[in-house]
Amino acid sequence: MTEQFFEQQLKLWPLAADNYKAVRAARSKSFSLNRDLNIGLKYLPQRKRSATADTSRTGIAARPCFLCAPQLPAEQISLNLVFENEQITTCTKARENGYRLLVNPYPAFDRHFTIAAVDHREQSLSGELPAMLALTEFMPSYLLFFNAPGAGASAPDHLHFQAVPRGCLPVERDFASWHDVYSRVLFTSGQTEVFCLENFLRSAWLLKSRDPKELCALLQELLGILASSLPNTQTETSTAVNNIPQTIHRGNIGSTEKFHTDVNKNPEATAVQQKPPVNLLSWYEKGLWTCVLFARSKHRPACYFERGEQQIIVSPASVEMGGLIVLIRPEDFDKINPGLISRIYAEVSLPEQAYNDISEAWKNLNQHSNPRTL
Ligand SMILES: [Zn+2]
Repeated sequence: MTEQFFEQQLKLWPLAADNYKAVRAARSKSFSLNRDLNIGLKYLPQRKRSATADTSRTGIAARPCFLCAPQLPAEQISLNLVFENEQITTCTKARENGYRLLVNPYPAFDRHFTIAAVDHREQSLSGELPAMLALTEFMPSYLLFFNAPGAGASAPDHLHFQAVPRGCLPVERDFASWHDVYSRVLFTSGQTEVFCLENFLRSAWLLKSRDPKELCALLQELLGILASSLPNTQTETSTAVNNIPQTIHRGNIGSTEKFHTDVNKNPEATAVQQKPPVNLLSWYEKGLWTCVLFARSKHRPACYFERGEQQIIVSPASVEMGGLIVLIRPEDFDKINPGLISRIYAEVSLPEQAYNDISEAWKNLNQHSNPRTL
């Protein structure tokens, strides 16, 4: 169905068709870092709009929302989706609280969809995890991802996911080869296994589950811990994480209830509800959901803001954290090397100590869970 829709859209939209032609001819290369961890590079000048988007509050306030219906290009058609009874289904007309599957006219891959909420609502995973996992099941040939504000979302004011073909991003494509080498079981909860990733260049957790409700609850739990560890003021380009919660009491898992932290350590944590800057990747196969959640310390690395030789225009989001670095200038594509890649990843990822503390806090919440075989 998505394939037919894609072909139909390209026939109606020469600009999109040209950009998909260009993406197939894009220059690419790859490096092997650490122990056989493949990181790809792709030179895609047509991604400039996304890589250099002004995502500051003032920038967002100054422009009309490009994912709201009045601003969608005249050529754009949509496949209308609705999330009901824990499933995604298609519908003839766009529905309130539904989603529009849209062909991204500035693709990074030979199929690239944006799945935007019909109504203008904030880019937040809160309350949207069940729909995201259902979308993942609805599109099993695709990898779905979500970029939080501060972690690469170019429309941080309008809820949207993206979908690209499976096999495009190393983190999913090479999963079988890196899984045993880099992941360590953190805990098991019901039908969900949670792993820490070690020496993975980026701070991330891996979750594998056959129970989407349980998976949602665990992801929500992790997002709660991450949110409670955020400082009270969030700058527009940088969100350092500190004040790791010392005591966290388990709330009603599965609800949107927030976690309470030790108020003496982090007095504003429960008063200010912030969204942690994360990238969430998800794919589905034969009843098994696999999610990788990357925790970020900032959106863009220092080299983005440099001038001259030192500058590299790179805006890490899910694609980059997933192991494919998109570059919009040929000189950056030629210049970037494994050392620079490691540095960029380290710079935009949650620092190791904070990652370990959050892992420990999360594990402590789940230490009485009973393991079951997946
Ligand atoms: Zn909007």
